[in-house]
Amino acid sequence: MKLIRVSLPVEASKRYSTFRRFLKTINGSWIQTYMYCPYQLYLERVKKVEVPTTKSMREGTAAHLVIEEEHKKMVERELSIEDALSLAPFEKESYAYREIKYITQFDNFQLISKVDEIVIEPEQVVIIDDKKSTKAYDGQIFQVYAYAYAFKHMFDVDRDIRVQIRSHVNGKILYDHEFGREEERAIEKTLDDVLRLLKNEFVPRVEYRSSKCDKCRFRDYCEVYLKHVGKW
Ligand code: SF4
Repeated sequence: MKLIRVSLPVEASKRYSTFRRFLKTINGSWIQTYMYCPYQLYLERVKKVEVPTTKSMREGTAAHLVIEEEHKKMVERELSIEDALSLAPFEKESYAYREIKYITQFDNFQLISKVDEIVIEPEQVVIIDDKKSTKAYDGQIFQVYAYAYAFKHMFDVDRDIRVQIRSHVNGKILYDHEFGREEERAIEKTLDDVLRLLKNEFVPRVEYRSSKCDKCRFRDYCEVYLKHVGKW
């Protein structure tokens, strides 16, 4: 089956990025933070603590830009997501997008997805997140579940959706799974928890863990860490 590199027409890109100012917003990447440490998300998004990005985060952004530039050089045509979904089964072709942003509106919140790669195939859609790690962590898996969940609802997808996490260190697929009803229920529950946290309906309770806290960029503002080191 032929794989065609495509990009979004400007009009479609704008349409997919419609932002409702008065609707609570969850960014898909916050799911990973929440799963890693809910208190970190609380500090960053509820208490609005600002700390500098890390070297590792900047390296990740740079690696993504390199892949995106490679993709742009290979783009053959512009195609909206709706057209790609319709055409793929008839043309027996797959369409690969890079760095696609879409904002999905639900009843009580909107979910921002910025997906590294989406491949629309005749029989399925594959949502891929590139990571700097060499193994897939739960937070990364749930982040890509959020992207798949939002995609399914936004584009009314009638075919299977797979989710993949790929290492941009060695190109290996670290996680590959069908996004089924069970995964959908799991991400719905997590999104609900994140939404309640963002509304400040509860303060997450976490314990000090050296593997996470000692290298956390929020540790100087974190009650849990400061209590552990006797500075609170
Ligand atoms: S220092 Fe530990 S508990 Fe505090 S935000 Fe960071 S990871 Fe979470």
